[in-house]
Order: sequence, then C-alpha cells, then structure tokens
Amino acid sequence: MIRIAIDGPGGAGKSSLAKAVAKKLGIIYVDTGALYRSVGLYMLKNGISPEDTDRVIAALPSVSLEMKFEDGKQIILLCGEEVGESIRTPEVSMAASTVSAIKEVREFLLATQRNIASSNSVIMDGRDIGTVILPDAEVKIFLTASPEARAKRRYEELKAKGVETSYEEVFKQMEERDKNDSTREIAPCVKADDAILLDNSKLTADGTVKAVLKIVKKTVKRRTRKGPIFYLFFKYAIRPFYALTLPLKVIGKENIPKDGPVIICSNHVGVHDVFMLSFAYHRQIHFLAKTEWFKSPVMGIIVRMFGAIELDRGGKDVGALKNAISASKSGLSLSIFPQGHRYPDVNPADTPIKSGLGLIAYHSRTPILPMCIKTGKVRYRFLKKTEVIIGKPLSFEELGFQNGGFSEYKAATEKAFDAVCKLGGYEKSSANEENTEGKN
Ligand code: C5P
Repeated sequence: MIRIAIDGPGGAGKSSLAKAVAKKLGIIYVDTGALYRSVGLYMLKNGISPEDTDRVIAALPSVSLEMKFEDGKQIILLCGEEVGESIRTPEVSMAASTVSAIKEVREFLLATQRNIASSNSVIMDGRDIGTVILPDAEVKIFLTASPEARAKRRYEELKAKGVETSYEEVFKQMEERDKNDSTREIAPCVKADDAILLDNSKLTADGTVKAVLKIVKKTVKRRTRKGPIFYLFFKYAIRPFYALTLPLKVIGKENIPKDGPVIICSNHVGVHDVFMLSFAYHRQIHFLAKTEWFKSPVMGIIVRMFGAIELDRGGKDVGALKNAISASKSGLSLSIFPQGHRYPDVNPADTPIKSGLGLIAYHSRTPILPMCIKTGKVRYRFLKKTEVIIGKPLSFEELGFQNGGFSEYKAATEKAFDAVCKLGGYEKSSANEENTEGKN
C-alpha cells in the first residue's frame, strides 16, 4: 500500500498531476478540494454566506456528502445529487477557500479523507494532506509554481471550459486565495517538513508527472530494498560459517512487514547479534552503532558500508537522533538495542533500558518490531542453537503515543522491550540485581 500526498497552492497543477500519476500506478486519486468546494456550494445554494461562520457551522449536520469512485473517477454526491462541474466556478472556489478556514468544517471532512486512505493506495491532493490528513504518507510532495504561471494555467483551464473571465481577474483571485489558504490559523497550506518541494514553473505537465513518478519509484525501492551489493555479499558470504558454528532458528518470520519503515527492538546478548538479526530479517537493517565503532579504522569502514547510523551512548546526540528519525521516515529498517550494552547471560527483563527507541518511533511514526535473541550461555554458545523470535509489530497507537514527550517515549520503549522479553519467556525477577552490569 502506498499513500502519496500532494499539497500546494491553487493552479500548481496538483489535480492533473495526481490524476496522471494515479492512472500510471493504478491507484485511487482523491481530490480533497472537491469536498471543500461541495461544502461551499451547499452554503451558496442555501443562501448561507460562507463568511457567516456560525451559520456555516450550524448547517454542517445537514450537509450530506458521499464520495465514491467509478472507473477510478471520483464522484461526489451532495445531498444525493452529483455535484459534477458545478463546484468548479470561481464563486464556489472562493466559497470553498472561506469555509475551509473554519475548524469545524475541516473536522467534518477529516474522517472522509482518512477513511479512504486507510484501506486503499491513494494519491491525495489538497493543502494539508502531508501535514494533517496523512502525516505518515510514504511520499509527500509540495507542488508549487510562480503566481504568474499558476494564474495563466487556471485562466486557460477556465477559458477552455467556457467560463468568462480575464487573466487579471484570475490572478487577483488566486492571490487572494493564496493569502487565505497560507495564513489561516488552522491547517494552513504549508510544506510538511519531510515533503519534497517541486517547483514546476518551467516544467511541462508531462515533465511534472515524470518527476513525481521518479520520486515514487525511488521511495518504493528504498522501502523494499534488500541492501546494497556489499551488504548482501557479506551477509550471504558469512552465513555458511555461522550455520556451521552458531546455528540459528528463526521463529515468527510471518510477522515481518513486507515493506515500509520498521524499527527493530531487540535484546543485546553478544557480538553476533547484528548478524543473527540480519539473517533473520529479509531487508537491510540499519543498526544504530556507538560512536566508538565509527572511530575505529577497520570497524569504521565496515559499519559505514553496512549503512549503520552513528549514535552516542547517552542518546543525547540530537544530530544523530535526527538522522535516525529521517532514515526511518524514508522507509528504512532500523535496529536499536534499548539496553545500550551487551548483557550476556543476564535476564533481559532485569536490565535497565534507554528511551531513544520511543523517541525515534514517535517522531518518525514508525511501527516497532520486537525480536528476541535467545541463546544459551554465551561462553558455551559454540554449536548450540540460537533462536531469534519475531513478534507482531506494534503500531503508533499500540505504543500509546499521543502528544510525545519523555514519559511517552519511555513508556513506549518499555512496552516494546517487554514484548521482546515475553517472546523469549523472560520475566522480571528481583533476584538478579547484582548481574545487571552491561558489557561494552
Ligand atoms: O484544490 P482546490 O482549488 O479544488 O481547493 C479549493 C479550496 O479548498 C482551496 O482554495 C482551499 O481553501 C480548500 N482546501 C483546503 N484543504 C484541502 C483542499 C482544499 O483547505 N485539503
């Protein structure tokens, strides 16, 4: 499933772009502006001024809106009647812009927009798709163009439809709508931090479609990538050696999400853990590795080639956390040992953990996959089977996130690590306290 969010000001060509991309990818195109336009149309039809906020809010319960798709085409029924082209007039455009600044109107339309994207691959265009409606969309694009180029396009479009107007008039209206949409308090039209800015003033419509398809392809590839040649070569070259010396049994492979970002949360037993996890997981794992590894001349090269992300032990390195968050947001699989150290031969349920995992999962809105490494006495591990047990991924909601903050990060990390311990049948005991010293 893929969700593509296209935001940007009017006239940037969002809808023709989204239509073309949807057709190419065989996914649904959702024109959210049409919903605001339909609400605007309802108000005009019923003699309610869009400026009269109280009356607009009072009228909302009687606005019956239904959105359906026929042959990929979006159809909106307003009180049972298809709206068709009646929502495309300049008057309705202004009404839509005015009512869209009302909080209650936005809330009224929120569920309709989210529902459709929860069960379908979609490309959705609007003003707040990447920021509010689908903040965890896989691809976010902020499409814009110079005001002149946008007004010219809109003018040509209206002219072709037989709407009588002038370029100057369209330009003036566009400026006014831009100002309305970008300065309003609720859900203003702004670029999401993680959206890609695409200025198509000098691009043709075809060129814009090609640019977006390229971005989508790159994202999909990244989300499913098994790893670069070096990683794969190394992983498969050393596997037979491991099979002979430290045999591995993987349980619960079916719980691994096929694609998309994942943060693997695991207990840390010994130096072989990174390999054990890599063998058990089908895609490249980007480990968060301590700074010391990066400083070592030989290990430094290896960890870099392995795509590891540098993290200092205290987890207070803001730049490193940001790197991890953006890597996760871009669809990669990360792995973190919340224990921070190796704890050989210690019940993991009795060890202290750090909360960086929760912080990264919250800010990247990424599910956490618990994986437990279960092995016998580390010193006598040779030829003994190690088990890697994979649990079900924990979603953003299951991790109990709401508004972020340290206590939520801590609770989420504990929840994820508890799940790891449960997989291995480890329970907290008070008798083990003297054993909880970690190893570097
Ligand atoms: O995109 P379109 O021009 O059809 O949108 C009409 C109006 O609806 C916009 O000017 C904007 O004010 C509003 N809108 C919005 N949020 C969206 C989509 C449209 O506020 N997601």
